[in-house]
Amino acid sequence: MKTSVIGFPRVGKNRELKFATEKYFKGEIGEAELFSQAAQIRKYNLSKEKEAGIDLISSNDFSFYDGVLDTAFLLNIIPARYKELGLSPLDTYFAMARGYQGDKGNVKALAMKKWFNTNYHYLVTEIDDDTDVSIAGNKIFDEYDEALAAGVEAKPVIVGPFTFLKLARYTGEKSAADFEKSFTDAYAALLKKADEKSIKWFQFDEPYLVKDLTDADKKLFVSIYESILSAKGSVKVLAQTYFGDVRDVYSELTALGFDGIGLDFIEGRKTLELVKANGFPEDKILFAGLVNGKNIWRNNYLKTLDVLKEIKAAGVKEVVLSTSCSLLHVPYTLESETKLTHEYTDHFAFAEEKLAELKEIASLAESLDGDAYTAQDSFKKNSGLFTGRVNSFDENVQDRVKNIKESDYTRLPAFDEREKIQKKAFALPIFPTTTIGSFPQTADVKNERKLFRKGEISGEEYKTFIKKKIAGCIALQEEICLDVLVHGEYERNDMVEYFGENLEGYLFTEKAWVQSYGTRCVKPPIIWGDVSRKKPITVEWSVYAKSCTDKPVKGMLTGPVTILNWSFPREDISIKESTLQIALAIRDEVLDLEANGINIIQIDEAALREKLPLRKSDWYSEYLDWAIPAFRLVQSGVKPETQIHTHMCYSEFTDIIPAIDAMDADVITFEASRSDLLILDSLKENDFKTEVGPGVYDIHSPRVPSVDEIYNALELMRNKLDDHKLWVNPDCGLKTRGETETKASLINLVEAARKLRESV
Ligand code: GLN
Ligand code: ZN
Repeated sequence: MKTSVIGFPRVGKNRELKFATEKYFKGEIGEAELFSQAAQIRKYNLSKEKEAGIDLISSNDFSFYDGVLDTAFLLNIIPARYKELGLSPLDTYFAMARGYQGDKGNVKALAMKKWFNTNYHYLVTEIDDDTDVSIAGNKIFDEYDEALAAGVEAKPVIVGPFTFLKLARYTGEKSAADFEKSFTDAYAALLKKADEKSIKWFQFDEPYLVKDLTDADKKLFVSIYESILSAKGSVKVLAQTYFGDVRDVYSELTALGFDGIGLDFIEGRKTLELVKANGFPEDKILFAGLVNGKNIWRNNYLKTLDVLKEIKAAGVKEVVLSTSCSLLHVPYTLESETKLTHEYTDHFAFAEEKLAELKEIASLAESLDGDAYTAQDSFKKNSGLFTGRVNSFDENVQDRVKNIKESDYTRLPAFDEREKIQKKAFALPIFPTTTIGSFPQTADVKNERKLFRKGEISGEEYKTFIKKKIAGCIALQEEICLDVLVHGEYERNDMVEYFGENLEGYLFTEKAWVQSYGTRCVKPPIIWGDVSRKKPITVEWSVYAKSCTDKPVKGMLTGPVTILNWSFPREDISIKESTLQIALAIRDEVLDLEANGINIIQIDEAALREKLPLRKSDWYSEYLDWAIPAFRLVQSGVKPETQIHTHMCYSEFTDIIPAIDAMDADVITFEASRSDLLILDSLKENDFKTEVGPGVYDIHSPRVPSVDEIYNALELMRNKLDDHKLWVNPDCGLKTRGETETKASLINLVEAARKLRESV
């Protein structure tokens, strides 16, 4: 059986791309050096895939920032404001990704959104009525040629036209269907060129097909591919789907002229059922996504081979074994983990180890009939991993979860009454100003943490350092005149990893980085067993911060849904059960903070929307029905005068506003600056009760917003929101920003709020 990989991580085994790109941004290296580092990473990736014996290796899965942006660039979909800067192609590309502020102009970045149900972010292409689609770049073929020179006959991959059109933002009158012709022409031209170059396979990624599709969507999909595929000549085209099943278009998809169809058997709950019920065309190859591209547990060969048997029994003639999605969503390799013992690592497979799994399973699958594979060593070794109890259990934790009562999910008194009590207790000015929590994690902070971890400074020395940073942060916020202060989160590397390290049941890694956006990576911890809190985690820092000022200081926690969503979850119990365990642990922390005088507590649910099922029909039953109560469980025990904040890194919750309100927080801050303010209309329509702080500027970009810009944003918000419910804050934490731009931005923010107060 042949093997295929949808895509490989691209930041480099040691995040080389991140460091090189950041140096390039600072002007420390030039374009040539950056290109050469990137080529090294691609070479490394190809060599690993080649050594592992993968048959169909992707090229063009590399990106300097994001694959959707690459596709927009290739198709010359570059909004005028970026072209007008007159920068080099690479800098124009980065201007779209990060915004630009310099001698050539001042423009914001494109909007950024989460890629389906992952923590990876893509850039939202803007298409206006005059957008003229044409093939403008050659990256896709350059990287093919490069792979060829390295001895790999790769399959170029690109975001497919349907997914691309569906994810774009249309800023004029026209919509996706109006661009059908120009897109089909452009993609057909790509295939034609591929044919001229004798490329064997070409992969179109069409994850949008796993969403709920309307009749118009299906029509658009079919008609796009009818024209494109007529241009394919002798190139074989793979329609690659992932993150779910294609139940709405299975028959259309299999009837089109594709040569291969990639289906996800991991997240696609109905994939096998679809194949069995409808059959699969004899003239096509099924790329069966059976090696999980999102989680890090070893594949269970027995189960996988059973699925392969069922696929065969359904009459599928030719199967290629594939990853379930791009391996972009898992770390590079276990080889980098020097501290975890085999007792643990034997149960994990990162990207490179997954290559070996693909190969092993494919070879076992050669002897599917007659079960001869069960005698093979690789099979026996794998089976051994799944016998007996693997993950660690804690009966106390399990009992606590069992004994949760209905009333534990409800905070009393109800919102309106609490709001009155809190307005009186805090006596904050109208339009209170605050930040989302973290302040710049400057080199000294990272360095000190490193020294502490290496044991080169003592715990006491580290503590003294962090306290000095906290005191400085409080002084800065007082100087800027913010109303509700934060301690700055200097003790945390990452909002989830930090809690993971302080909770029982978690494992953490040294280098298991996964790209989140651009040069930003996260290192998700691994849930290994039942989760509980050993001792207070954040109390000392918050109490110290409060002792430095008379102003209110927010305690800062990460919510259970986010902790779960940004960890690698267990596969032996449900994620609902894991989440409730975490919720109880964080609840203990909330109550400890309150008992220690911290009376504003923010519980970040930055990732709550992320795991919203891709299909609407699953939203409540599969997710919100337990995720929202889990949040309520965390905070329901506090006094009425304690104010609970939450924060979300996005504003696309228009369609789940009632669920967000039902979290029953007192204040919610969220991202709004990169998107239009449509969300505010919906808040109004839904009579949203929670007080809101829609971010007034974009922290993902280094540019400093002017007072007027912020003031105008606030005026727009005031059109939609009751003045007494409006908070003023940036759209996310400031940890990735520099100190100078942070201070300048916050001064402007406070000034804008002051001006506004004066005007009302
Ligand atoms: N409190 C966190 C911070 O400020 C929130 C981060 C986030 O939303 N991603 O860093
Ligand atoms: Zn955020």
